[in-house]
Order: sequence, then structure tokens, then C-alpha cells
Amino acid sequence: MTQKLNVIVIEDEKNICNFIQTTLENHDYKVTTAATGKEGLSCITSCYPDVVLLDLGLPDIDGLEVLRQVRDFSTVPVIVISARIQETEKVAALDAGADDYITKPFGTSELLARIRTALRHSQASAPGKTEAVYRSGDLMIDFDKRLVTIAGQEIHLTQIEYKLVSLLAQNAGKVLTYDYIINHIWGPYADSNNQILRVNMAHIRRKMGENPAEPKYINTEIGVGYRMREE
Ligand code: CA
Repeated sequence: MTQKLNVIVIEDEKNICNFIQTTLENHDYKVTTAATGKEGLSCITSCYPDVVLLDLGLPDIDGLEVLRQVRDFSTVPVIVISARIQETEKVAALDAGADDYITKPFGTSELLARIRTALRHSQASAPGKTEAVYRSGDLMIDFDKRLVTIAGQEIHLTQIEYKLVSLLAQNAGKVLTYDYIINHIWGPYADSNNQILRVNMAHIRRKMGENPAEPKYINTEIGVGYRMREE
């Protein structure tokens, strides 16, 4: 028998906590729950979780503060559970080191998909495990050759456009914030105005033949950033 993956759920709403626990246990995860930030932090220190689900609105410590404290000693994937509609909260959480977020109310399949993505990324970030090729539907990116094709047809991208697409593809399934992307592509001194990013994304989408209303490859997370489809 293989070792079960260990998930810690830090969430004070009993209904949601029970829903997550039942769902995950039915899918063969081991689940530990905590109803406060303090309890959650001590759980993380003592049980070596594979993934942490963290509610932002906790009764004692603010979820963001819990996240910051976790990041002081651990790189465990953290998925933030957000009830708040405000994008700023999610962005702040991502910028503070959360791997992803999920907004209440969410369903079983979304929850499981987010956890799988977070696990895959934490395993893939182990040294020497970078995939040389990304595929999603008819899109293929060959990172060694710096080649992008759709249904076998080469897509001609500028240097910056290629950097953008490959950054998103290397983090497929994960939302990258505007600031994170701008920092990576244009450097830390770049203007944090999103305009240049939006313009480049529009060019990429046009070249890829994306319908902005129904994107096949790159999703816009409004007010937050972009998420490339998982392979
Ligand atoms: Ca709460």
C-alpha cells in the first residue's frame, strides 16, 4: 500500500471543513483539520503535510498572516480558500506565497483539480524534473527549440511573447499574478502598469487564434492574472 498524501485543512466553517474532509478522504487523502490559525500552524509544524488548504477569514489570526508565517519555514503548497470576492485578497495571498486559490462555493472536481495541480507543481519543482515539452490540446511548446506550434503549424512569436507563453506553460494550471509575470519578464524595475502585459497577451492570443470569450489555452483570471490550461 502506498503512503497516503497528507492534507491539512485550516477552516473555521464547519460545513465547508466537513465537505472538504469527506471529499478528500473519499479520494484517498489523509486529512487533518484545524479551526483556527494557531491550531493550523502547529499542525503544519508537526504533521509534514503535502498540501495545505487555508481559509483567509479565520477567527484568531488573519489567513494572510498564517500564510506568511508558514512561508518562513516551509515551501509546502498552500491553496487559499477565499470567500471574499475582492481580488486584492487573492492577489495578496498569491504574492505572499500561496500556490493557488479557490473561491467559495466550490465543487468536488474543482477542489480535486486544484490539489492535483499544486502537488504536481511541488513535485515538478524538484531539481532535474523540468519537462522539455508542453502540450495542451493541439498546442505544443518545445522549450529546447523555443518552438510553438498549433496543430503542427508554427506560431511566430516575438522574444517577449515567447517568454510570456513559456512562463505560463511552465506553470500550467496555476494562476500567475500580473505583478509576478511583469517581474519575471520585464524585471523588478519595470512599471507595474499592466498595459504592456495586456497588449502582449492580446498579440499572443491573436497569433494563436484564441477567441477571447472562450479561450482554449490561456484563461484570464479577472483582476488577478493569467492561467494556462493544464496539459
Ligand atoms: Ca472563515
